[in-house]
Amino acid sequence: MSDTPSKPFRTPWPGSVSRPVVNPLQPSVVYASGDPDELDSQYEGGAKGYTYAREGHPNAEVLGQMIDAMEGASGGVVTGSGMGAVTVALLGSASAGDHVLGADQLYGRSLRLMTEELPRFGIATSLANPTDVVAFEAAIRPETKLILIETVSNPTLRVADVDGIIALAKERGILVAIDNTFPTPRGCRPLSRGADIVIHSVTKLMAGHSDATLGYVATRDPALSARFSTLAVSMGFTASPFDCWLAERGLYSFDLRYERCTATAARLGDALGVLPGVVRVLYPARHDHPDHNRSATLLGGEGGHMVSFEIEGGREAANAFVRNAEGLNFAPTLGDVATTISHPATSSHRALTPQARAEIGISEGFFRISVGCEPADALIATFEKAIRAAIAV
Ligand SMILES: *Cc1c(COP(=O)(O)O)cnc(C)c1O
Repeated sequence: MSDTPSKPFRTPWPGSVSRPVVNPLQPSVVYASGDPDELDSQYEGGAKGYTYAREGHPNAEVLGQMIDAMEGASGGVVTGSGMGAVTVALLGSASAGDHVLGADQLYGRSLRLMTEELPRFGIATSLANPTDVVAFEAAIRPETKLILIETVSNPTLRVADVDGIIALAKERGILVAIDNTFPTPRGCRPLSRGADIVIHSVTKLMAGHSDATLGYVATRDPALSARFSTLAVSMGFTASPFDCWLAERGLYSFDLRYERCTATAARLGDALGVLPGVVRVLYPARHDHPDHNRSATLLGGEGGHMVSFEIEGGREAANAFVRNAEGLNFAPTLGDVATTISHPATSSHRALTPQARAEIGISEGFFRISVGCEPADALIATFEKAIRAAIAV
């Protein structure tokens, strides 16, 4: 769908007839204007120019335009983290007295923002299962202003009924915001399916190297877009130029990384599926995935770079698996060029009771893998060896 971004930003360099082929890192916090008339015109939007980095800077602008092109958006706002982008979408769309309906398996921090913070500002929230449009419809209230869902949920990789929820929201005049972090714009483009708002944690596969913390939020509504920009500046969500610069660099290899990790993830899922001791594999493109049909229409038949699976043997086997997964990072992140292993029961979902975890299918033997760019054969062999060691315990 989206192509690898090319390098269109050819900046002239003072005192040189040639110019850098790399967009320069521009850490300047302040910008000097010619005179009060010119500054006035910059603030009023007559003249284009930077004033103060919190209000905007070249590296954020370049990155924002690149992601805009990938998502089919315009005027997207780059924020200092993915949570900054979620916050801008929520507080920019809803006001005191409104209700926000969220998916019940949102990213942990998004859930906490919904349940612990928004109510303090007079914004009511509730949650429903996003794979069940009937449940969503039942949870709508007269004052529902916004629906927040994730295309693919963490860590069970359930695929939301994006088209069904968008159609329902349109009928009821409700805005739909979609956190598209897991599939990325290569897997799905929510705005082109009729969503109002798209959100990314750019920190993950988009930037792709676990060295920049960034977010992105865009909307098709120009008035809302202007509010998002203003809110992000007023709340101080501005991204660091260096992080933007690193993410820009990461995006030039995005398509290659996406294709490599997705192809390896599909192979890893199939290899795990036939391994003794593996209770189940969750990968959206597999025929045994509960949302397989939806992944075919929504994700173009691709399963993405995340694979989850469950092994028998409880915590003891889980410890043995991680200890035997030689060379792989046990770290609760995703989207890195290197494969990472996450254990939701002791990290993202540790606050839940074992029973609540069991209800959403997260046991002590449940792992979520973010597949990286390593050679597939060697990576799969590492998993097979570690799982054999784990179930022997
Ligand atoms: C990581 C993540 C976030 C938060 O992003 P940060 O950059 O860590 O603030 C939001 N949504 C999803 C789906 C994520 O994976």
